[in-house]
Amino acid sequence: MNESPHPDFLWRTPEPRRAYDVVIVGGGGHGLATAYYLARNHGITDVAVLERGWLAGGNMARNTTIIRSNYLWDESAAIYEHALKLWEGLAEELDYDLLFSQRGVLNLAHSPSEVREGMRRVNANLLNGIDAEWLDVDEVRKFCPIVNTSPDVRHPVLGATLQRRAGIAKHDRVAWAYARAADRLGVDLIQGCEVTGFDIAGGRVRGVRTNLGRIGAHRVALAAAGHTSVLAARAGIRLPLQSHPLQALVSELLEPVLDCVVMSNAVHVYVSQAHKGELVMGAGIDAYNSYGQRGSFHIIERQMSAALELFPIFARARVLRTWAGIVDVSPDASPIIGLTPVENLFINAGWGTGGFKATPGSGWVYADTIANGRPHPLAEPFTLDRFTTGALIDEHGAAAVAH
Ligand SMILES: Cc1cc2nc3c(=O)[nH]c(=O)nc-3n(C[C@H](O)[C@H](O)[C@H](O)COP(=O)(O)OP(=O)(O)OC[C@H]3O[C@@H](n4cnc5c(N)ncnc54)[C@H](O)[C@@H]3O)c2cc1C
Repeated sequence: MNESPHPDFLWRTPEPRRAYDVVIVGGGGHGLATAYYLARNHGITDVAVLERGWLAGGNMARNTTIIRSNYLWDESAAIYEHALKLWEGLAEELDYDLLFSQRGVLNLAHSPSEVREGMRRVNANLLNGIDAEWLDVDEVRKFCPIVNTSPDVRHPVLGATLQRRAGIAKHDRVAWAYARAADRLGVDLIQGCEVTGFDIAGGRVRGVRTNLGRIGAHRVALAAAGHTSVLAARAGIRLPLQSHPLQALVSELLEPVLDCVVMSNAVHVYVSQAHKGELVMGAGIDAYNSYGQRGSFHIIERQMSAALELFPIFARARVLRTWAGIVDVSPDASPIIGLTPVENLFINAGWGTGGFKATPGSGWVYADTIANGRPHPLAEPFTLDRFTTGALIDEHGAAAVAH
């Protein structure tokens, strides 16, 4: 495996050509993975990824890197488990050390209803062939001794679900690995190229307008996360997406103290310790809509008090930095993947607070959808028309993030 993961030049920096078969808008994890699988799985290499900033400057390298597939509904379980299986071979396939670590993810339950819900989820996961266990409070203590399991706190721990195959990976390395692999297969990665509009004629997309000029395209694929609804509006499409800041923070570097991932819906915090040693913590979204990648201080304050309730041992750790990314939240907290009312304009969005874990699976099914002009079977339940048919896939309970 490649031992020097961050050389200066991992990909070319080409000038954009006048036209491509496929233009992907957005150079985050999903856009890059889609480009890679278009080339690798479908032999489609006349592809450009247009990124208005720099590759992985959006949510891809701002997230808290949690990977798991323990979603409730069959449709979600299928797509997230497809992604997890791809994660399990990804470092070898891309020849890049992604620091993928299947260290186990605990989802804590703090009330009788959360216990019931957690047990239901374990059973649903097992029926879908996904590894899942229910731990009582003694087992939680054994698995993660630094969690405060005292009964005398505001939200006492009553048990937890555990997915042992779940874990974390190093997000920016994942982006670089996909970018290098896509570049090697002939994909043009164009940074500093903002899509400002679409050329549409006869109900069909013909190309994009950018700050670098017009670029023709047979097919255009949106992968712009929190900015998707703004972009789609420029193509005359109104999407059921809300854009919110989602914040995270890291502590100073610590000795190894936490060797699993701990999430809590009720307390609203999720914590892991990165390979380098910093604690990585996320919270709930800022409630207002925004495109500013910062968020409000009071959210961080609440997040810290929640974290300290669960982990009193962190009381003297110092916060090193905080930031936010703009997440695209759909009404049922599930993604939107598929075709749009504009012919040959495709959408992959709405992953909200949980799309990092889906990166390989999302890229895989989106590439297939673009290549074949119809939703991949795993994407069929996630098309845009579910918001008119009412066939929603409500996964609000799946995240430790309130929205
Ligand atoms: C703080 C935080 C914590 C999170 N934690 C987790 C987690 O633990 N686990 C998990 O699974 N998920 C998590 N997520 C969610 C996850 O990061 C996202 O769902 C996922 O990264 C979105 O896909 P992406 O990587 O392609 O998005 P992005 O990296 O945001 O990519 C979209 C790209 O589109 C570009 N773009 C936008 N508009 C234009 C335009 N007009 N022209 C050209 N380019 C454009 C942007 O610059 C951006 O680079 C978290 C998100 C945040 C913010």
